[in-house]
Amino acid sequence: MRIMLIGAPGAGKGTQAKILEKSYNAVQIATGDILRKATEAGTELGLKAKSFMDLGHLVTDDLMIKLIREKFTQPGFSQSWIMDGFPRTVAQAEAFGELLDELNLKLDCVIEVDVERPLLIERITGRRVCRNCQAPYHIKFNPPKVENTCDYCGGHDIYQRDDDSEEVVTNRLKVYDLQTSPLIEYYKLKNLLHKLDGNLPVEEVTTKIVNLVNEAR
Ligand code: ADP
Ligand code: ADP
Ligand code: ZN
Repeated sequence: MRIMLIGAPGAGKGTQAKILEKSYNAVQIATGDILRKATEAGTELGLKAKSFMDLGHLVTDDLMIKLIREKFTQPGFSQSWIMDGFPRTVAQAEAFGELLDELNLKLDCVIEVDVERPLLIERITGRRVCRNCQAPYHIKFNPPKVENTCDYCGGHDIYQRDDDSEEVVTNRLKVYDLQTSPLIEYYKLKNLLHKLDGNLPVEEVTTKIVNLVNEAR
């Protein structure tokens, strides 16, 4: 499986990627998760990224492209992946296309997860994340099975991201519209794009993604 999920913040990309990762033996490449880990670890990348993330702005293309290139060219890197949060600009998409060509890898399909605005805001402001493995939960729609315990890793530190506040969310949605949504047209022109209704319950979205992936391969 080599797929890319595109969708606004809160669309459910991380939720779906985590489920697919488990059942398809594919790795989730979530750039937001990588950046948050780097920030917590206090690495140079993390320190550079933090100021952008706190305001809901995108981290620069140069940094992001470098990060993805390093990941994909590591010896033994998985041939099976789910892109979640990268690319987020046309420049990143162009660079990613070049990287895949170089590595002789083909993208199976790009899936646009489409969710209504009011629901996106409710999802983001109610989101909680496992600090250890970054699995997303929701206080109302998707709480962990056992209170304050991550379903995936058993961790007990489930917190709210700084950028999931209402003020920052508005900015992130603007950034999505301006900088990321052009990718939909970009991949449509490459005949790779499939759109699906992300307003549906988690399990139904997963089924739709699985069907699309099976058709595309
Ligand atoms: P969400 O899934 O809620 O949209 P992410 O966890 O993917 O949020 O990203 C959080 C933040 O990390 C973004 O607002 C942005 O600042 C930064 N980020 C993540 N991926 C990228 C990327 N590909 N390009 C630039 N910035 C990114
Ligand atoms: P993204 O990675 O696209 O920003 P997430 O996967 O983190 O989105 O989901 C955002 C929030 O919405 C989380 O709190 C998650 O539990 C919840 N969520 C995800 N998918 C659904 C769904 N299909 N129905 C209801 N809530 C969902
Ligand atoms: Zn966890």
